[in-house]
Amino acid sequence: MKIDLKKLNTSAHASIPFDETIDLTDEKLYGAKPFQSPVHIKGVVSNESGVVRLAGSIETIYSTECARCLKPLEIPLSAEADMMLSDDPEAEEEDDLFVLTSDSVDPADVLVPALILQVQMTYLCKEDCKGLCPHCGADRNVTDCDCDKKQIDPRFAALRALLDSDKGE
Ligand SMILES: [Zn+2]
Ligand SMILES: [Zn+2]
Repeated sequence: MKIDLKKLNTSAHASIPFDETIDLTDEKLYGAKPFQSPVHIKGVVSNESGVVRLAGSIETIYSTECARCLKPLEIPLSAEADMMLSDDPEAEEEDDLFVLTSDSVDPADVLVPALILQVQMTYLCKEDCKGLCPHCGADRNVTDCDCDKKQIDPRFAALRALLDSDKGE
């Protein structure tokens, strides 16, 4: 929802609150669409003696998977932002300055980047997740496969095959 900033100009101290749920289900990040849960934003846009600022928070559940064992994970994620809004086209976007492209602002445009900054490249289901066996794909947290024991030097694999076929007859 866009907030019409012209409404803020009617008095020196005006504020417009916002509180809404936004849909980021199509938002792509690291090759996935991790925002499958509702995203809640709330806060206020205010004008204090001509300085327009937006202060608010954003929260959601980030759907991803363990980087080692691929177990689905639901990570609670939240961020806060307190930014001045500038309509000066010469102004440079900074950490605490958001440059407006019109005389309205969509709080999501300010808050979603703050949320994405909180996202880590990878998550683990637990610090010491043992991951999947690269050979048989077994979840090593659940079961011990014996692939490690079976690993033999490829140079001996041919010999091993020979011995095995010998045994077989
Ligand atoms: Zn894991
Ligand atoms: Zn294995």
